[in-house]
Amino acid sequence: MSTAVNKKAPTYYNFVAGEWVESSSKERLESRNPATGELVSYSQKSNRHDVKEIIDTVHYTFHQSDWGVNPKLRYEALLSLANKISDNIEHLSRILTIEQGKTIRESRIEITGCIDTLKYFAGAARTVFGRSMQLEPNNFGVIAKEPIGVVSIISPWNWPALLMIRELAPALAAGNGVIVKPASLTPGISVEIFKLIAEIPEFPKGIISIITGPGSSIGAEMAKSEKIDMISFTGDTSTGKSILEMGANTIKKIALELGGKSPNVVFDDANLDKAIPFIGRSIFISAGQICMAGSRVLIHESIKDEVVSRLKDYADSLRVENGLLETADMGPLVSKDQLNIVAEYCEIGCREGKMITGGYQLTGGEYDNGYFFAPTIIDDLPSNCRVLKEEIFGPVLAVQTFSNDEEALEMANDSEFGLSAGVWTTDLNRAMKMSKGIKAGTVWINTYNKNFPETEFGGYKKSGLGRTRGIDGLMEYCETKHIHFEME
Ligand code: NAD
Repeated sequence: MSTAVNKKAPTYYNFVAGEWVESSSKERLESRNPATGELVSYSQKSNRHDVKEIIDTVHYTFHQSDWGVNPKLRYEALLSLANKISDNIEHLSRILTIEQGKTIRESRIEITGCIDTLKYFAGAARTVFGRSMQLEPNNFGVIAKEPIGVVSIISPWNWPALLMIRELAPALAAGNGVIVKPASLTPGISVEIFKLIAEIPEFPKGIISIITGPGSSIGAEMAKSEKIDMISFTGDTSTGKSILEMGANTIKKIALELGGKSPNVVFDDANLDKAIPFIGRSIFISAGQICMAGSRVLIHESIKDEVVSRLKDYADSLRVENGLLETADMGPLVSKDQLNIVAEYCEIGCREGKMITGGYQLTGGEYDNGYFFAPTIIDDLPSNCRVLKEEIFGPVLAVQTFSNDEEALEMANDSEFGLSAGVWTTDLNRAMKMSKGIKAGTVWINTYNKNFPETEFGGYKKSGLGRTRGIDGLMEYCETKHIHFEME
């Protein structure tokens, strides 16, 4: 595949009431390829006035159309979107890679994941079940599930297509009106998907919109709006906290999918031939810019040297290059800011621990045009070191050592986050005890990063509020109403 990018960068517009609209300020944001620095696209730098208009439109359409009470229409619309994305996998994957930097192989996985998610929730739109029950001899209750109203989906830049669709699909399946606010670094892939949405007549004009621009102004405006009934936010824990605060006055529902510092726990009876590539991939996929990154590896002391040596070999074998190359195992970091953050953590790691491999920006030749960082492993860090405690969001793996099961569990839970964990053992009892004991929304046994639209995902502790995916994920986007009949 060629790494050349179109000479003329496209301009993306907001999608409001079924039309493509320029921001009233006429200001634009630039998006650049993190592998080459080339201009990729322009998008609208929307302002508060634009957000108010978009909220009014979706609010009006939600209350006027029969979208919320027409599950078959929603099924048709979501299935149609899945099929249109299927017809455009290569085009969308390429846009995703040049905008975000991830490898083209990973982009294909992300886009295929969007299709699977849409198909699952298309079916789910026709199964938004409540329940009914006899309560007393003359009293009968119906517990009905209804759409919440207008939902704003605020999404991050790391898996911008799938994380948007992960929320968009259940929100629409449940019958809500939706406004998407993508991250400013990656608006293009989201708007490209909206171009396909615009071709689908089953979506009532105005039921679904996208607006691009700075989160600090337009995201905040949505959090405060009386006409938005729910915010579904995926992003940094500190941003999630401020959205909770901003939304408090309106008592709107807020679902949060936040950061992580996930451990892989490797016991002395683990199948290392299987574990090593999974653990390596868990931290170096997306150059570590993934919420469920296995950024800590906890190793039983008896096998520590072997595991660290094999993980080093894995890290050193990765081809770090422009994600458009089919041979790339890891692309660049998304921006200069992200590169600086990762480099700063590596400086701390160098000072307080022992660098096993990496720890530096890759330079020379084509590397000089982008934000490439070496896959990094750091050992011997003090237990209170920031590298062990904070989410780095880069290709940095921290090694910890334990001597028994109790210590392993304590270390795994020694984090303010609780998003996911991996447990590597062939002992079933141990696997069961660990999976029950670890405070995380997902615990993988002898595998990692296995996600399905059918299985719930979300965080304990500061990793989030609520669940996405699966039946619970659909129910997050529903109100519950008790309708009560009393017979004469
Ligand atoms: P971020 O919090 O900086 O931005 C996320 C979104 O929020 C963007 O669209 C941004 O424009 C918007 N935003 C920023 N400030 C805002 C404000 N004051 N009010 C409203 N909206 C605002 O996060 P990011 O850097 O884009 O993403 C990385 C973070 O996301 C990491 O912490 C990662 O762990 C987390 N994440 C979590 C999950 C999950 O499922 N739990 C998935 C992916 C990423």
